[in-house]
Amino acid sequence: MYAKVIVDIAHSQVDKIFEYTCPDTLKVGSRVKVPFGGRVIEGFVIDVSPNSLYPAEKLKPVAEVFDEAPALVPECFNLMESIARRYRVPKAVALRLFLPSEMRLGKVREAFKNFAVYTGGQIKLSASAKKQKEALEYLKEQGECDYTELCENYGRGAVNSLRDKGAIKIEKRKLARSPFTGLPQVGDEKILTPAQAQAIETIYSSDKHTHLLHGVTGSGKTEIYLNVIAREILAGRTAIFLVPEISLTPQMLSQLRGRFGNAAAILHSGLSAGERFDEWWRLRSGEAKIAIGARSAVFAPLENIGAIIIDEEHDASYVSESAPRYSTIEIAQMRAEYNGAKLILGSATPSVESYVDATEGRINLITLKERINKKPLPEIIIADMRKEVRRGNNTAFSKALRDELDETLGSGNQAIIFLNRRGYSRTVLCRDCGYVAKCENCDVTLTYHSEENCLKCHYCGAKYHMLTACPECGGKHVLYNGTGTQRVVADLKTLFPSARILRMDNDTVSGKDGHYNILKQFAEKRADILVGTQMIAKGHDFPAVTLVGILDADMSLHFSDYRSGERTFQLITQVSGRSGRAGEAGKVVLQTCSPENYILRYAVAYDYEGFFRNEISLRKATGFPPYSLICRVMVTGENSEATLETLKNVYFAIEEIRSSNPEEFIFLNKMHSPIKKIQGKLRYQVLMRLKSKTALGKIYDIAVKYTTSSVLVYVEENPVNLS
Ligand code: ADP
Ligand code: ZN
Repeated sequence: MYAKVIVDIAHSQVDKIFEYTCPDTLKVGSRVKVPFGGRVIEGFVIDVSPNSLYPAEKLKPVAEVFDEAPALVPECFNLMESIARRYRVPKAVALRLFLPSEMRLGKVREAFKNFAVYTGGQIKLSASAKKQKEALEYLKEQGECDYTELCENYGRGAVNSLRDKGAIKIEKRKLARSPFTGLPQVGDEKILTPAQAQAIETIYSSDKHTHLLHGVTGSGKTEIYLNVIAREILAGRTAIFLVPEISLTPQMLSQLRGRFGNAAAILHSGLSAGERFDEWWRLRSGEAKIAIGARSAVFAPLENIGAIIIDEEHDASYVSESAPRYSTIEIAQMRAEYNGAKLILGSATPSVESYVDATEGRINLITLKERINKKPLPEIIIADMRKEVRRGNNTAFSKALRDELDETLGSGNQAIIFLNRRGYSRTVLCRDCGYVAKCENCDVTLTYHSEENCLKCHYCGAKYHMLTACPECGGKHVLYNGTGTQRVVADLKTLFPSARILRMDNDTVSGKDGHYNILKQFAEKRADILVGTQMIAKGHDFPAVTLVGILDADMSLHFSDYRSGERTFQLITQVSGRSGRAGEAGKVVLQTCSPENYILRYAVAYDYEGFFRNEISLRKATGFPPYSLICRVMVTGENSEATLETLKNVYFAIEEIRSSNPEEFIFLNKMHSPIKKIQGKLRYQVLMRLKSKTALGKIYDIAVKYTTSSVLVYVEENPVNLS
């Protein structure tokens, strides 16, 4: 037989199919080792056939086969083609998406353990064989136990002679390293509200495959997802459930385990390599049928998928920030189409793109207007921070927020304080000369971290000593400007000395349990106030939270990005949604310096439709997405000359496309990126606004063509982050 193999090398020059001879038993989808250019490397078998274009004696044999069963599901090869074509990456790079990274290069294997098992076989033991007798007694009682432990307790000799006599046998068993074993299992099935029942009914009766579930926060979207999953499992199919943050996975996992037991498996970048490997194989082998995880779980090794759910579908984390820069929704659409599955996009604040698709009938729109039990949405109080300053209040807390915090803590409820920055304060500024401390490798300002008493770069992680005097002018008036999470916690401790405060941001969470432990403490009411960045904005359900404080609602409003209005609306709605979800009514204090801003007005009134109508007419009038496509070609490298030369070539090549296609281009220019340098790499960009996706393929080709070992060129579509 002949195997067609894609070698695991991310290079366009070897992006083809190689043939090897192989045993008849080799299966499509297997990972193998093959001889290649004097080395032996890993590869993926994409086809096994009795025929070859080449004579057998010209071909080398496959050197080794990994895994008992093929790792790749058949659908991979279909998706691989689509992804490689769409994002212009080598097929090997597309295939890597389907495997846990540690599995490649053999960094992780299955774990086995030996068990001693009582066989019931009758044997005679001499009176002197005391240890053997004891070991046998013990095993008779236990039935089975860890072989190594048994040897430690009774001696290897005794145990092995019991084995030789046939009284016990040794079995090598595969271990399932399973994450979050201590997770409480919640989620008894609920009686659906009429709105929920109607939503499910629509999902199953509609002739459309994609559904946008637009439901206000707390409207019971999760229950709808769980019901759809239950139906699919019952029908013998599988499901993928995506959430925007890994911090949300334990919460969802515990609901899924409560309902579906071991059929739920978690794919999570924070798991240990062994856990991830085992959870992944549980899905691949069919033992588990539901994959839950963040973005990358869209590549879960499931077959016969019945439903793919993308919760908080508007979230920026669903676009990959490293190659291939795929859109999770796009991949989910490909998989849903291949499997004939339902794709459910859920959000309280759908992305403008998805909502246009829904209003124009390309996907099905389902609306849930009310919270469960008709609970009111929390009242949003606007605090005008300009007035606070005029009144002489220079703290980060308005009077309204302090009063509400007082009341909340007094009544034994919990509060969440949200702000968009981490660290103690934003920038370090010299009041005498205006000097701002910046990272040497990256063109970004440094942030002060009080715990380590140092300045940190949030882009490369570099640490710098604290400044006591200005390095430019020697002035002693170095000011620590702005407010970060650490500073807020410090201020809160002064204002409310007896309150128990937790902080959650990228600095306080580490390891796979980092998020989980903080959230658990808060959920168990072992703290009164949770302070955090966007990590705490999404999806969490804490029944005792009755107050949410948004410290600086303007932060995201002033980004020079066409999405800033949309992002601000989403953020305010999401964070507010954490308040008053169970018993008592909730409140939100929203602090701003521009209370008259229309985005804030719509957010305060929970008027998504109003916001959308306004936003979409603005986008139409100005020709921004979805009425155009913003495309950025990044050119980055360490060598200034080479990078600039490449930038020129890339720009010239795109100019050429434009000259044969002038009406496609609304805008085209080349420039420095807003952040001019990250990790020593200079950053330039060719920015364009295109009428459609027509020219996109050619632009990707240009990026591939001009990428060299020293200068990287890549394409971003409607980039989430234009820095
Ligand atoms: P969403 O995801 O839309 O923000 P959730 O699914 O978290 O909302 O639901 C909000 C709350 O309502 C949760 O505490 C959930 O347990 C509860 N809930 C959902 N559906 C029902 C129902 N049919 N009956 C009673 N409680 C429900
Ligand atoms: Zn840096």
